[in-house]
Amino acid sequence: MAARTPKPRSAQPTDPPHVRVVVIGSGFGGIGAGVRLRRAGITDFVILERADSVGGTWRDNSYPGCACDVPSHLYSFSFALNPEWPRSFSGQADIRAYLERVTDTYGLRSHLRFNHEVVEARWESDEARWRVTTSQGQWTADAIVSATGPLSEPQIPELPGLADFPGKVFHSSQWDHDYDLAGKRVAVVGTGASAIQIVPSIQPKVGRLTVFQRTPAWVLPKVDREISALEKALHRAVPATTALRRAALFAVREIQVDAFVRRPALLKLVQRMAERQIAQQIKDPALRAKLTPDYRIGCKRILLSQSYYPALAAPNAEVVTSSLREVRGSTLVAADGTETEADVLIFGTGFHVTDMPVASRIFGDRGQTLADAWKDSGMEALRGTTVHGFPNLFFVIGPNTGLGNSSMILMIESSLTYMVEALTTLQSLGATALHPTERAQRVWNQRLQHKMARTVWTTGGCRSWYLTEDGKNTTLWPGSTSSYRRATRRIDLAEYELIKRQIPSQQRVMA
Ligand SMILES: Cc1cc2nc3c(=O)[nH]c(=O)nc-3n(C[C@H](O)[C@H](O)[C@H](O)COP(=O)(O)OP(=O)(O)OC[C@H]3O[C@@H](n4cnc5c(N)ncnc54)[C@H](O)[C@@H]3O)c2cc1C
Repeated sequence: MAARTPKPRSAQPTDPPHVRVVVIGSGFGGIGAGVRLRRAGITDFVILERADSVGGTWRDNSYPGCACDVPSHLYSFSFALNPEWPRSFSGQADIRAYLERVTDTYGLRSHLRFNHEVVEARWESDEARWRVTTSQGQWTADAIVSATGPLSEPQIPELPGLADFPGKVFHSSQWDHDYDLAGKRVAVVGTGASAIQIVPSIQPKVGRLTVFQRTPAWVLPKVDREISALEKALHRAVPATTALRRAALFAVREIQVDAFVRRPALLKLVQRMAERQIAQQIKDPALRAKLTPDYRIGCKRILLSQSYYPALAAPNAEVVTSSLREVRGSTLVAADGTETEADVLIFGTGFHVTDMPVASRIFGDRGQTLADAWKDSGMEALRGTTVHGFPNLFFVIGPNTGLGNSSMILMIESSLTYMVEALTTLQSLGATALHPTERAQRVWNQRLQHKMARTVWTTGGCRSWYLTEDGKNTTLWPGSTSSYRRATRRIDLAEYELIKRQIPSQQRVMA
């Protein structure tokens, strides 16, 4: 642990309002950050959100059939268990309503600033603070929590002729509910987690459905059901039963993780279940061949559905086993030359993941952007949260903290523990900021990539959105959620350089 002392400076009347913490984003990550900060006695913070309400993923993704694919009792905060979940895998509207409730219950409204898009965050070394510029003015802050989401910036491929398509075009996360799909010739591009929920929801009503599939997904049955009134009453009356239910869901997923990260061969059994589902639901051998992946299950995200295959086998549906290459008027031309006429083009093509969009807006201690710092290595952090050269920047769902099989809320909560631990440690040491040493960050990532080499995401024989162009996995955590919790329980000051500021008086504005 080394310490630097920047030059002191007194507050100027023209300075923007100063807060201890700026949180960017109000999805599960930003809302969770607000709760954890308040619980730690830190009330001097704002949550800057570019949209006009909370919810993040669950505000933006409202496509037909949108629901979580991790059971709701696990896909929720440990500190805000919800006895009222209506289904084992609840829908978007219920998850969004849950986040609104958490916002109210934990008194976060006064901290929220909607329609405030962060366009730049710059570390001012002399002041040892962040200057955050939004679409509606500036803040300065001791620390930033970046919770802008791993899946919040839609990715639409650049296709020749797309701008001239005469029909309707939208991304799965920007669904146009005013547009009626009834009787239309609809093309869905992509076969990922969103597409698999959209396809069966719209197939019965559209005239013709064409799915452009670059790579088929492995699909397991989704054991979804309504949670009975009796169960809910029990959860309400005896809260420990909700916790117990969550614990059971948690344990099953923790046991499964070993197969993903160390013994991919064990996944063969799971693959057989998926093969059985294809065999039962798709009778046409040609279609079955089209839909059967040639890589090991788990390499790409395993999808859950019982209605996807029946929808694709319906008489009005067709699967093109090729990516969309070009648009010529209302004709969609696939890479294999197949031509399809369409009135509507829906992109289920995912999000900017490995090129975290906010990285080009964050400037570190030498004026470098985070995007520049990651240019050669891809996204890298220490313990998924802090980055060398970017003092007091804390990521929620940062590099290599994604999961292939369990609830992201578990990872979010662990990174928040680490962030709070860092801020309280700084306070107790009388220091202003910290950032990891180059060495600590390097060693952490070397170990992490060493573990990654054995995982199914590396050895499974697929190209997934988890990987950079160079094939490096910068998104997933190669371990259990418990091991990440252990890794983020405490700050190890030997991994950090401390920065101390001595300012006579600092003007602070309470949120
Ligand atoms: C359709 C879908 C289904 C999913 N289902 C599951 C599931 O079942 N289980 C699971 O574990 N995970 C699931 N995920 C992953 C999901 O994204 C995470 O679980 C979690 O919701 C992420 O929360 P977050 O707060 O980090 O990000 P988000 O929910 O994406 O929130 C980020 C927020 O930051 C705001 N923001 C971004 N940039 C800026 C800026 N520059 N300035 C101001 N505000 C900004 C955005 O508007 C947004 O409100 C799903 C994702 C999608 C898209």
